[in-house]
Amino acid sequence: MKAIQIDAPGGPEVLKLVDLPDPIPGGNEALVRIEAIGVNFVEVYQRTGLYPMSFPMIPGSEAAGTVVAIGEGTQADVKVGDRVAWQGGSGAYAEMARVPLNLLVKIPDEVTTDQAAAVMLQGMTAHYLANTTFPLKPGESCLIHAAAGGVGLLFCQMASRLGARVIGTASTDEKAELARKAGADTVINYTKQDFAAEVKRLTQGRGVNVVYDSVGKTTWEQSLDCLAPLGLLVLFGNSSGPVPPIDPQILSRKGSLYLTRPTLAHYIATRDALAQRASAVLNGVAAGALDVRIERTFDLAEAGAAQALLESRKTSGKVLIKPAP
Ligand code: NDP
Repeated sequence: MKAIQIDAPGGPEVLKLVDLPDPIPGGNEALVRIEAIGVNFVEVYQRTGLYPMSFPMIPGSEAAGTVVAIGEGTQADVKVGDRVAWQGGSGAYAEMARVPLNLLVKIPDEVTTDQAAAVMLQGMTAHYLANTTFPLKPGESCLIHAAAGGVGLLFCQMASRLGARVIGTASTDEKAELARKAGADTVINYTKQDFAAEVKRLTQGRGVNVVYDSVGKTTWEQSLDCLAPLGLLVLFGNSSGPVPPIDPQILSRKGSLYLTRPTLAHYIATRDALAQRASAVLNGVAAGALDVRIERTFDLAEAGAAQALLESRKTSGKVLIKPAP
């Protein structure tokens, strides 16, 4: 099979197309022929060395396709021919992958394989942030950074449906318009305006109950200034670079604030939790309640270009890779 391999950390050019033997599924694994691969920031962090990995590795933590074999002697809920999706682990930038059965989710008939590959990771992330990390309720307000991004557009839809007031940030007027269409009440262009001052103005000086910040280095400190006393800063990404070590006293000074740094794996740690969150997201797509915007699709050989585009800040929604054109 064809796959993308990284031998050492570096820029997008370290993503090399290689020929490897077809994988053979072991116990409690399925072999999946991959039709669509989701491109995510986590793969950028792994490629650059921000998240240490063992090399050589096949990157890729999200994909969808068809089951072509099940490990010998294994009892499985899925069968050969089922359309499935998963997120987690690595090895998805390939034509085929061995996937642990406990990660696989069947794709509802109404959802395309591309849509499933596009929402597993970003959709479940938006879902846990809006429903579990800080369960949004009517009358509450939130600030969502990068509101027109992959996570952002899904998040705006979920947060507004929960009845919260949604303030977003985005870097261009075009992105701001997409975030508004997705449900944000107001979008601040944070490349032109001081977003903390604007949030304070929009909330009559009170601040919001929660800030969801995936941008990190360039926004985290001002994000604290957007919060009402006892508010929560949810730092869930590093798109602009990692946040430096923080003196906890800053939380006291700025209003006895709370800070959390969550990651999806802990919110889908059991099979039940994964099944519930994945079906909430996939059923939302199936019912037409959750719109999935696919920005661009690349061939497998163009994996480096796909990651470079995600890093370039020019995307709104999902970047996909399709192994077979
Ligand atoms: P996005 O589509 O949101 O792309 C990142 C966006 O961040 C850009 O489009 C850009 O939006 C904004 N941004 C601001 N500054 C920069 C910068 N210097 N370089 C690049 N981008 C910048 O990506 P994803 O939806 O895939 O992921 C969003 C974030 O969520 C990532 O940080 C990711 O790591 C995190 N994440 C965290 C998870 C978790 O469980 N903790 C799970 C999934 C994702 P704009 O142009 O509008 O500023």
